[in-house]
Amino acid sequence: MNLHYDMIVIGSGPAGKRAAIQAAKIGKKVLVIEKNEIVGGVTVHTGTIPSKTLRETVLFLSGWRQRGIYGRSYKVKDHITADDLKQRLHSTLGHEIEIIQHQLMRNNVEVEYGHARFTDEHSISVLQHDGLVNHFTADYFVICVGTRTYRPDNVPFDGDSIMDSDEILSLKRIPKKMLVVGGGVIGIEYATIFKALDIEVTVLETNDFLLGFVDREIVDELIHHLRDCNIQVRLGDKISTINKFDDGKVVVKFDSGKSMAVDTVLFAAGRQGVTDDLGLDQVGIEADRRGRITVNEDYQTSLPHVYAAGDVIGFPSLASTSMEQGRHAACHAFEADVASQPELFPYGIYAVPEISMVGLTEQECNKRHIDYEVGIARFRETARGQIMGLREGMLKMLFSIETQKLLGVHIIGEGATELVHIGQAVISLGGTLDYFVQTVFNYPTLAEGYKIAALDAYNRMTF
Ligand SMILES: Cc1cc2nc3c(=O)[nH]c(=O)nc-3n(C[C@H](O)[C@H](O)[C@H](O)COP(=O)(O)OP(=O)(O)OC[C@H]3O[C@@H](n4cnc5c(N)ncnc54)[C@H](O)[C@@H]3O)c2cc1C
Repeated sequence: MNLHYDMIVIGSGPAGKRAAIQAAKIGKKVLVIEKNEIVGGVTVHTGTIPSKTLRETVLFLSGWRQRGIYGRSYKVKDHITADDLKQRLHSTLGHEIEIIQHQLMRNNVEVEYGHARFTDEHSISVLQHDGLVNHFTADYFVICVGTRTYRPDNVPFDGDSIMDSDEILSLKRIPKKMLVVGGGVIGIEYATIFKALDIEVTVLETNDFLLGFVDREIVDELIHHLRDCNIQVRLGDKISTINKFDDGKVVVKFDSGKSMAVDTVLFAAGRQGVTDDLGLDQVGIEADRRGRITVNEDYQTSLPHVYAAGDVIGFPSLASTSMEQGRHAACHAFEADVASQPELFPYGIYAVPEISMVGLTEQECNKRHIDYEVGIARFRETARGQIMGLREGMLKMLFSIETQKLLGVHIIGEGATELVHIGQAVISLGGTLDYFVQTVFNYPTLAEGYKIAALDAYNRMTF
């Protein structure tokens, strides 16, 4: 069998799904190749949706959102078990997979299950699960193969006490003491989610800082919160050895000479592009040592008819941005209008409390020599925040002193990942401080923080 398509997309995660549907909407014949038995990619099976479902379950069962009102010992359910945490996962994931399958079908995107490899610049072989090999050709390709967890040799993963971020979803029991290795987005999310279950949590990060791409003031707020809820943060240190003993204890030694005993290690320090068995050598496309492919601003690789999108091209490695990259690649290939604005991609970190941002940070403004003024609102200053019992949370806006234009929005606290879209819309449309001063916001809402922060910036500005 040898079939020809306008576009072949490798991988059915967010980037692949969106690239394929976009090409189909332009009227092209599209094939998605997926090596798993089910579509969806990391987002559906081990990443975004499972971790956010787990977060929601933990926040509900632990009564976290009510603790500001009823005290730190408030709980909806005593003795939360690992099964309690998994219950909600199955129904959410099943539903999500159905939606993706339906979207692909409705748009006439064909799906082939098996491992895809390039055999030449326009040909792909697919090794199916039953051992059969099919061959396909196409005018254009989009590589959306994503990443897998990075598992270094000095970490003796056992899927029980020493796990990566995929395995944590099959947690058999709720640990008492946990070490989270990696202070990136995934590590911080899981550390704070497990802390909400009153587990003793330590975060280990090799760098001297957390979340390098986030505005420093927001990171300071986060660190203050982590310390306030007794999460230990070890910066600038590394794992030297990990040993598991018969009584189930895991002893971790650090490069600094310190050591600690825990019952669970979650290793969440980095991911690796899945490009090692893709036949890239057959077509002369190179991947770096982390398996990532370099692309231009239209997501073309060194071969112009082969695009790459999503986590396989590196930062920001989010489902949201992967989808847009996939859409952009398909539009570019078939000369459809496309105007993505990567500089206005919002970033969401679903820690507890959540963090979200769009536009420039203070550090970037300084680097670019932009004169700016800051306006800040604390959620506890809003009536809604008081009603919700919020002790933490802040919304920060940066405005250009010269043009009054909104340059960046940085939020930490309840609803941050939703609230940020107001700021995103205003920045995209070139809005100024005046918009927030003149506009009426619903009351009581957390969105009112925008007005408070704008007035704060207004008061600080000398006109
Ligand atoms: C724990 C965790 C939490 C996350 N939380 C968030 C979040 O809250 N918000 C957010 O926006 N993002 C989040 N992400 C990131 C998000 O999951 C990824 O950005 C997104 O899945 C990347 O999409 P993708 O399409 O590039 O790749 P993937 O989703 O990784 O999909 C790649 C697909 O390609 C397939 N494939 C690979 N090689 C081949 C081959 N040779 N042949 C055929 N098929 C192949 C794979 O089987 C897979 O299905 C999270 C990630 C993790 C791990």
